[in-house]
Amino acid sequence: MDFGSTEEDKLIRDNAREFVQKYVIPKRDSFSYTKKIPDEIIQRAADAGFIGFTVSEKYGGAGGTVSQMAAIVEELARGDVSMALPVYVLLLNGWPSMLEKYGSEEAKQEILPSIVKGKTYFGIGSTEPSGGSDVMNEKSNATKKGKVWSVSGEKVYISGVREALNLPGGGGFLTLLRTGEKSLASKAFTSFALMIKGTDGKLRKEISTTLFDNIAREGLSTGGFSFSNLDLDDIYRVGEIGQGFHIIMEGFNIARIYVAAACNGAALEALDMGREHLRTRILFDQPLGKQEGLQFELSELYGKLESSRLLTQKAAWTLDRVYKNKERVPLSEQNLAVSLAKMTGPPTAHDIITKVMIWHGAMAYTKDLPLGAAQGGVMSYYIGAEGGINIMKLIIARELLGKEFLNYKSG
Ligand SMILES: Cc1cc2nc3c(=O)[nH]c(=O)nc-3n(C[C@H](O)[C@H](O)[C@H](O)COP(=O)(O)OP(=O)(O)OC[C@H]3O[C@@H](n4cnc5c(N)ncnc54)[C@H](O)[C@@H]3O)c2cc1C
Repeated sequence: MDFGSTEEDKLIRDNAREFVQKYVIPKRDSFSYTKKIPDEIIQRAADAGFIGFTVSEKYGGAGGTVSQMAAIVEELARGDVSMALPVYVLLLNGWPSMLEKYGSEEAKQEILPSIVKGKTYFGIGSTEPSGGSDVMNEKSNATKKGKVWSVSGEKVYISGVREALNLPGGGGFLTLLRTGEKSLASKAFTSFALMIKGTDGKLRKEISTTLFDNIAREGLSTGGFSFSNLDLDDIYRVGEIGQGFHIIMEGFNIARIYVAAACNGAALEALDMGREHLRTRILFDQPLGKQEGLQFELSELYGKLESSRLLTQKAAWTLDRVYKNKERVPLSEQNLAVSLAKMTGPPTAHDIITKVMIWHGAMAYTKDLPLGAAQGGVMSYYIGAEGGINIMKLIIARELLGKEFLNYKSG
């Protein structure tokens, strides 16, 4: 398999690695267990071009490829294994690229340059209390009233609510809303760029927000927002009426690659720590790594991680064929490549981090090591963020067996 890494690709990865060594590793502890990524790091990540890296130059981005972005995210996760910074950066690439592809020129001019400068947050608002996996049953809705849409509903477990409230340029979410009857199935949804603050810089009075007390990845918030009879100008509609479900699914395909890359990065760092520990920890008068039982574990984990990285690279390369080379790649091929990467990345990383914790003994149970933070960070993607592992399996089975084998409506 030739994924066609160019000199430019290598430079971009090296640049991200240097960034991590210089700015992220020294502050790693403060990422793991505090409730904020330092402002200075967000600004440096923006200045380095990582935020909105895949946004085109017209709006201030670098027009980078999916493979390049996946490499950046993997490197960032090697530095911040709690996953807060890589997830922040990955979300602010995946979802702005959907706004750029489908949004109105006015909305793009207003939002994209500010995202790239690190001043505005833009994530995804899909999940509702009725269940994130069952997107087709979501109830938040939009009704056309002349030139504006009246929108009402509630989104929960949304990454970046605190950041959208606190950043100088505010923030918002590519928000999926019901605009048609249930009988229209996936065509009953339209997506909108719902910015939670008004032009006065204050939270809109029709919106209220909540924050969850997460078990990990605390540097990036998870919260909710509800909105009642909020007027949204038609310029904030993203894509055609009825196209929202498919736009969100397209965005998930891009974001899932970055998610897998982030998990691989955290696992790479954990495995490096594990190797160092096996070399240097003396027990029973010899290095722990002399125990063949542990050598076998190391070899198996290394193989699993390499497999996961290859799947992720293949998925990124597949989407580069679509977005960079403008090739017609069947959607089933894209879905298969992406879902395999997302099905494999989080569990592999979780297994590796857990095993490395066990190798470390009691010290892994303290916050002196970032392994607990890494395990919790990766768990967010095991549990469900950007789609649960079982949902990836259902997508893979759908592509292997055919839609008629699904016992639910997939759009
Ligand atoms: C840290 C974090 C950040 C998040 N950030 C965002 C965000 O920014 N934006 C956003 O929109 N959402 C976000 N989410 C929500 C995420 O998308 C959902 O967790 C996910 O879609 C699953 O939805 P749910 O949590 O409601 O679980 P449910 O949908 O209730 O599913 C529960 C479990 O059942 C499994 N399951 C579901 N259906 C089936 C089936 N047919 N067969 C077998 N198993 C099944 C799922 O895989 C899951 O393990 C975030 C979640 C977390 C944990």
